[in-house]
Amino acid sequence: MLKGEAANVTNLTASRCDVLIIGGGVSGTLAALASARNRADTILVEKGPFLGGIGCSGLFQYICGLYLNGDAAPAGTINGGIVREITGCLHRLSPHKTVKKIGQVYVLPYNREDLRSVFDSLCKQEETLSLLNNAAAVNVDKESGKIVRVRINHQGTLNNIAPKILIDCSGSGVVSVLAGADFALSPPEKIQLAGYTIRFKGMKDPDETLSIKIPYYLSEAIREKMLPEYMRFSTFSLGDDDDEGYCKLSVSGPDSDERERMAGECSRVLHGYLAGRLPSFRGSYIAETSSGVMDREGRRICGEYTLTEEDVLNAGKFHDSVAKNSWPIEIWDKSKGTVYKYLTAGEYYEIPFRCLKAKGIANLLCAGRCISVTREALGSTRVMGACMSLGEGAGLAAAHYAKNGNYPFT
Ligand SMILES: Cc1cc2nc3c(=O)[nH]c(=O)nc-3n(C[C@H](O)[C@H](O)[C@H](O)COP(=O)(O)OP(=O)(O)OC[C@H]3O[C@@H](n4cnc5c(N)ncnc54)[C@H](O)[C@@H]3O)c2cc1C
Repeated sequence: MLKGEAANVTNLTASRCDVLIIGGGVSGTLAALASARNRADTILVEKGPFLGGIGCSGLFQYICGLYLNGDAAPAGTINGGIVREITGCLHRLSPHKTVKKIGQVYVLPYNREDLRSVFDSLCKQEETLSLLNNAAAVNVDKESGKIVRVRINHQGTLNNIAPKILIDCSGSGVVSVLAGADFALSPPEKIQLAGYTIRFKGMKDPDETLSIKIPYYLSEAIREKMLPEYMRFSTFSLGDDDDEGYCKLSVSGPDSDERERMAGECSRVLHGYLAGRLPSFRGSYIAETSSGVMDREGRRICGEYTLTEEDVLNAGKFHDSVAKNSWPIEIWDKSKGTVYKYLTAGEYYEIPFRCLKAKGIANLLCAGRCISVTREALGSTRVMGACMSLGEGAGLAAAHYAKNGNYPFT
């Protein structure tokens, strides 16, 4: 295995490994680190050019789900392990970014470049981890109910990898579906609003009042039929720089080129509308947008247990817990906007390993956004802090499986 960089493609033709992870978002990166640190021969395959997934390409400002939401400021992260190590690294890179309370929850402001570089450098340190960027899993072969081969398209060249165990960290559960796993998907009218982030620069003296003014102007633009109705639930926040602001546009509709085109077009219309009405926007420009429209809700792979809203709100505890989470249920409803349901202050729930274990396929685990939860529970489990711990739990369990042929949490 090559250390810390793309494996040699020709060597991959009949490549074997202990643990294969598809998707290098926050869950996949932590799964890879946990697996490699437990001495499993690990390959991490990522479709894009860098690690971090939408945690980097989504232009978000806060890592949510890292802390216990109580009255007192948190002393540390709610989960230990690699997640805590990563927050330590982020703090060293940007010491001014400290835990912040927004409403009833604690979040960690972060710099996306920092997250990327922490992920890169931690992965490079692992002798048994090979990272394959710009490569996508396109097919999965099974024999006797087990995954035996995964086909990878690496810049036009097809190769097979034969893992002892596969972890699906693709966000949308795409490899689990290729493997024939069952999944749940909300009907179109219930699927939560997706998002598209715009970063504005060149703003003049932007201040907090914009988070109220912008929704007002948005509703005016919608009334004038310049923007679609579902965009009324978009939000605005200030950036780190004095001339910077972020707008998270709410987007509806199935994943398609048309949805992407609409989001790009609407961001230009919105910017023109605001620049014509708000002095802060005069002379401003769109500096960047998220890499595309990002789904809050997609396929949820059916596991051996499905976490529910009751489990979350009643602070459920499990014998096979892999992660703790205190983040509220946050539903981005198409007709009502954002609806929050909070746990009692100071409480947390646990996510059992069985939510990561795909039903009926012995050597398939999932981590991150596509685990086995109801639509409501997903409103809490999908935040980055929780996804990282889920990845870590999956990586640990997979390394154990590769060595012993069974799982540690039984
Ligand atoms: C609009 C929006 C706003 C959000 N805001 C926040 C926020 O402010 N704070 C917060 O903590 N959370 C936020 N979240 C939630 C959070 O960012 C995500 O749920 C979380 O990052 C998901 O991590 P993941 O690793 O499961 O998936 P992803 O980050 O989606 O990573 C999946 C990776 O898999 C790769 N992949 C997919 N298919 C393949 C394939 N076939 N082969 C190889 N690679 C593949 C993708 O390229 C991607 O890099 C937000 C989500 C959305 C949609």
